[in-house]
Amino acid sequence: MQTTSEGGQAEKHGLVEKVLTKEEQAGLTPDMVIALLKEGNERFVRGEVTLRNHNEQIRRAVAGQYPKAVVLSCLDSRIPVEDVFDRGIGDMFVARVAGNTVNVDILGSMEFACKVAGAKLVVVMGHELCGAVMGAIDGVEMGHITALLGKIRPATLIAEGFEGERTSGNVDYVRWVAEQNVRLAVERVRAESAILSEMEKGGDIRIVGAMYAMDTGKVTFTQ
Ligand SMILES: [Zn+2]
Repeated sequence: MQTTSEGGQAEKHGLVEKVLTKEEQAGLTPDMVIALLKEGNERFVRGEVTLRNHNEQIRRAVAGQYPKAVVLSCLDSRIPVEDVFDRGIGDMFVARVAGNTVNVDILGSMEFACKVAGAKLVVVMGHELCGAVMGAIDGVEMGHITALLGKIRPATLIAEGFEGERTSGNVDYVRWVAEQNVRLAVERVRAESAILSEMEKGGDIRIVGAMYAMDTGKVTFTQ
């Protein structure tokens, strides 16, 4: 009689406990990773996020990590990044800072994710109704928040491309500034990381922007 492993039992109950292996990671292209993230986000939007046995995944991930992507997201508590893409333990690196802005530590983290750990995709993900973006529009000054918002300010200073009221009370303007902020962050990654821009030119990775819709949970890749 065949003994059923703990893992087999979990699979029977619809729990996924796989952790990405080095070989599986190596077989992925940047475009395949984007497609996987889009499919995962469609499941999230439909409310069909995969059930995962995290205890088993943790044990299987001890030996190393071979994630597919690195995502830079806002701090916002309403955006559970792994869930948004229906990803489990060992699937993706996630860096978070209010306003999803780039700094030297974030760049170093992205370089580690791609050059050292083999991730194929860099995503900078902004979102609608972003409090950090609203604060930058309003020119809020308070403690270290002043310096943080200063990194978003360039997106608020773009003169062309938006017709309408340029205030933090206009949700369309807040979304537009968040999109510009993502675009500028992607440009900064390319301009300031020789490692990542060379990997992108060589086709080893892609660097893309994305926007998260607060009312539906849908992610739209913008670049
Ligand atoms: Zn935000």
